Amino acid sequence: MVAVKDAAMDYNNTGISLLAMSHRSKPVMELFDETTDRLCSLLGIPDGYKVLWLQGGASLQFSMVPMNILNEHETADYIDTGAWSSKAIKEARNFGSVNIAGSSKNDNYTFIPKYLEQNAESVYLHITTNNTIYGTQYHVLPEVNNNGFLVADMSSDILSMPIDISDFGLIYAGAQKNMGPAGVTLVIIRKDLVGRAERQIPTMLDYATHVSKGSMFNTPPVFAVFMVNETLKWVESIGGVSAMAEKNRIKAKKLYDEIERNSLFTCPVNPDDRSLMNVPFVFDRDGLDDNDFLSHCSERNIVSLKGHRSVGGFRASIYNAMPEKGLDALISAMQTYEQDQ
Ligand SMILES: *Cc1c(COP(=O)(O)O)cnc(C)c1O
Repeated sequence: MVAVKDAAMDYNNTGISLLAMSHRSKPVMELFDETTDRLCSLLGIPDGYKVLWLQGGASLQFSMVPMNILNEHETADYIDTGAWSSKAIKEARNFGSVNIAGSSKNDNYTFIPKYLEQNAESVYLHITTNNTIYGTQYHVLPEVNNNGFLVADMSSDILSMPIDISDFGLIYAGAQKNMGPAGVTLVIIRKDLVGRAERQIPTMLDYATHVSKGSMFNTPPVFAVFMVNETLKWVESIGGVSAMAEKNRIKAKKLYDEIERNSLFTCPVNPDDRSLMNVPFVFDRDGLDDNDFLSHCSERNIVSLKGHRSVGGFRASIYNAMPEKGLDALISAMQTYEQDQ
């Protein structure tokens, strides 16, 4: 990308590399504002919300969310839909009570639980909208009890489709799957939730710090935010998140259709809950060797297809950045492999 090379050498004709600029300089302040504005317009983020660009990944949000929002004597509902949800649950237990409102753990997370047992008093309901490892995704959001609100880990499907921000109290996402490079984490928080928990919070872990300092309390990941801005420009250029969703539907359908048609493969996930971002599939027949199919693919330059160790088989991660021709190449490799058997 020319823009990235320019930014590294001579940012916006300033004669200085973006990598050498102070985060207090005008160009960097403007970059942050521009990136936030662009995200707000792409996702339709209403006035009552704040956008933060933080560090520590989605994994730090597993702790920051309950630390900032859940008091010790209070309860939050969590739905356990996979490894990332489980990690979020583990951290939340350090700060308050956690009620597991639903879980698909006993079925190796092959579906999204629909029947929920929410706590009547719970402050929020936490979901992982796309389960990266298991290939499930919410296509309908759960209804939340009482005055509660949804908190969502959207690390692996943010910007892949339109969302109604007002359904959520807080959304967080590590940038590295659909938004940019690792090193920056997006938090979208409803303003009234900032400072909700009564405990003493370390300054760096307090949302209020980052809200009051515009994500510039300490040195922020400037270059990563620049890359996010470039990605957002690209999403805009193809027509925004609705157009992106349409592309993603077409891509995923092609692959799921081939998995159904191909006599060698099957997808373990409940059809209603299948992810448009991560497609796991396994051999449907004994006597076939995973590694042999993986080599067949890598000979065709199709890589990173090995399934997560907890699922086995294969997983195609087909995030926004994966072009449709990448799917065509995989499908053709699946077909030639079928003919070879
Ligand atoms: C990758 C991923 C994470 C972990 O993100 P880090 O930024 O590495 O902490 C959390 N949740 C989901 C859904 C993910 O896909």
